[in-house]
Amino acid sequence: MSKVIVSSLYDSAVFKMACRQFDTAADAINLPEHIRDRTKYPRRCMAVALPISRDDGSVTVFEGYRVQHNVSTGPSKGGIRFHQDVTIGEVAALSMWMSWKCSLVGLPYGGAKGGVIVNPTQLSPRELERLSRRYMQEMINFFGPHLDIPAPDLGTNEQIMGWMMDTYSTHVGHNEPGVVTGKPISLGGSQGRREATGAGVAYLVGKYLEDLKIPISQATVAIQGFGNVGSEAARALVGYGAKVIAISDYTGGIYDPKGIDIEKACAYLRYAKTLEDYHLGEHITNEQLLELKCTVLVPAALERVITKDNAEKLQCRIIAEAANGPTTNVADRIIAKRGDIEIIPDVICNAGGVIVSYFEWLQNMQNYYWDRDEVIRKLFAILDKAKDAVEFQKRKFKFSRRLAALTLGIERVANAKESRGLFP
Ligand code: NAD
Repeated sequence: MSKVIVSSLYDSAVFKMACRQFDTAADAINLPEHIRDRTKYPRRCMAVALPISRDDGSVTVFEGYRVQHNVSTGPSKGGIRFHQDVTIGEVAALSMWMSWKCSLVGLPYGGAKGGVIVNPTQLSPRELERLSRRYMQEMINFFGPHLDIPAPDLGTNEQIMGWMMDTYSTHVGHNEPGVVTGKPISLGGSQGRREATGAGVAYLVGKYLEDLKIPISQATVAIQGFGNVGSEAARALVGYGAKVIAISDYTGGIYDPKGIDIEKACAYLRYAKTLEDYHLGEHITNEQLLELKCTVLVPAALERVITKDNAEKLQCRIIAEAANGPTTNVADRIIAKRGDIEIIPDVICNAGGVIVSYFEWLQNMQNYYWDRDEVIRKLFAILDKAKDAVEFQKRKFKFSRRLAALTLGIERVANAKESRGLFP
């Protein structure tokens, strides 16, 4: 028998959602009681105060977190989020999903996630550098190429990873590129990493459209969140022949049924930073974007945006979950009951990012670098294998696609824990 004693530390809607997903999957595969709770709950978490000096000479203290969910299947791996609404419960949920994702696609990693409560758009570049370096400095004993390896997530980017890698390397006294992935190429970043998550999303969308016998040239796409993942997914989908009819950021969305020129929108964002005043297309809200009639809806921003309030109103054929946790459990059930929408669940849909992060880490370990074609070819091969495994599990047990993906991921973590014993 297993008995769990847990505090309210992670209490939040998103952590409860991740736990409910776990419980459903554990029930579906009859995961033995004695292994459940230690597979489910995070292994450890750190909370740190991050004082930095501001450009005006004042000091602000930010709060940062790192949750290492599972280290039984290798060093833990997961992004760092800079966002004003970060909570430790959200970071814990994201760390759980990283465990299942790495395990599902067969990477030798456990899952982790980090976050800082900050609106990065309100910091100057120098303040952002101080905060990024301070975060790494405070967590330095918990990071390392064989311990825990961060990467970019919402609100963080290559430059921030570069500062973190430099802070760590200065501390250990030698160059250690493998401590962080998603770095600039000049610091040991991988070819193809910047576009990997979006490219993987687009590749899987193409494969699922093929299964549905919908020519991609006839597909229309609406994308919520036009940051790293959303814009790269858009670029790749347009490259495959799809038409992107809506994009958005935190200020709102742009809709053009004739198709949005993605390169023009990216060029505009490089100097304007937001879509607020973009002149090509009709302005819509993020809520309206989700309910647009389109072939593929790509949530690529925050979690819990497809809810009981809009699940009935969706007018897409496929939801490609580029963001982590965009669909609440209730919405999932409503969509399943409708039966007319295919969901490509987050743990496989956005796995391209961590797969190419793994390639980056491998290249750093070997000091031997691959060209972009090799990276993308190997990325697609892993995604193909994961998709086949998920579809097989789905058919064999008559599971939903999410349940199929989660059970595969969870089972491998539980097996590793069982084989290793109680400590890891
Ligand atoms: P990003 O910071 O580059 O872009 C985020 C985008 O979402 C921006 O356009 C931002 O304006 C928008 N946004 C923020 N709040 C919003 C809101 N309330 N409503 C609508 N839009 C909003 O981040 P990213 O790296 O592209 O990450 C996006 C999502 O993809 C996150 O859920 C992240 O966890 C997930 N993800 C990222 C990676 C990666 O490699 N970066 C890998 C896997 C999953």
